Amino acid sequence: ATPTATMVGTAIGARTGVLFKGGDVLERVKDAETVVFDKTGTLTEGEMQLTDVVAIADETDPAMADGGADVLGAAADAETTTEELVLSAAASAERGSEHPLAKAIVAGADERGVEIEDPSSFENVPGHGIRAETSHGEVLVGNRKLLREAGIDTDPAEKTMERLEREGKTAMLVALDDRLLGVVANADEVKASAKEAVSDLRERGLTVLMLTGDNERTARAVAERVGIDPENVRAEVLPDEKAAVVEDVQAGGENAMMVGDGVNDAPALAAAFVGTAIGSGTDVAIEAADVTLMRDDPRDVVKAIRISAGTLSKIK
Ligand code: ADP
Ligand code: MG
Repeated sequence: ATPTATMVGTAIGARTGVLFKGGDVLERVKDAETVVFDKTGTLTEGEMQLTDVVAIADETDPAMADGGADVLGAAADAETTTEELVLSAAASAERGSEHPLAKAIVAGADERGVEIEDPSSFENVPGHGIRAETSHGEVLVGNRKLLREAGIDTDPAEKTMERLEREGKTAMLVALDDRLLGVVANADEVKASAKEAVSDLRERGLTVLMLTGDNERTARAVAERVGIDPENVRAEVLPDEKAAVVEDVQAGGENAMMVGDGVNDAPALAAAFVGTAIGSGTDVAIEAADVTLMRDDPRDVVKAIRISAGTLSKIK
């Protein structure tokens, strides 16, 4: 492109909230062949809401038949329903975490008037969940792997987990003192324009992938809502594996445009042919990215490509 074309493209971008880090980036974007979207906060709003609290143990474990009084001691007085206990234990543990999933559980417990305490100690297990010492006992909240690695059988919760995951929710297991206690689930709305963004990209001939640490079933349910093919879903990707997914795409000979917002996404943004930070993305993500989309709209990915290709005129 001529210097004038570059200036015009940069100016159009700046005016419409698409910031290119230099003229070389502006030229490169149009050559992207595969777009890799992070799920949470990129295709979804990233504002989780606690939607479900299910007590599991009381149905399956004879020791819990009386509301768990034997197992739970003082924690399970006659007044305490098991759902309340599940939520109280989960929220008390999650007080130790800054994760959006954790914040939604704590906020949901607050709204429901459930008692929450600060954990006396906690340990975040990245990509898996949290382990915390609470007044209830030792609490685990997280995915199947977290509980299984602690030697807890997750089968009694499987039907419930699968039902919630098919609804596109993030379902998390709750255990207390090595005993399965229940399930909590958070929902996150898909962004209104995500489907249009995906279909516009596919119409332009690009492949669209979705990347997430969330489990496969939840990921597929969300992918279906936005029009991404199941074979293009990369789920259960650990935070430090996200960059490898991008490198994989590029090893296959495709120029990858990675779109994400989180601290976790920074290495993948840096590894991509074009790294794109979206919306209220964290500073770390913006720093690692080549393009910043100021608005929280995934359609601006298409706009960035069109500006780069010179097909978005000033008059629009
Ligand atoms: P993403 O950033 O894609 O949302 P993460 O890698 O942070 O995913 O987490 C992957 C999975 O690990 C979550 O879907 C959840 O099952 C579990 N997990 C992570 N952190 C927590 C937490 N604080 N509480 C409960 N579960 C968690
Ligand atoms: Mg994320």
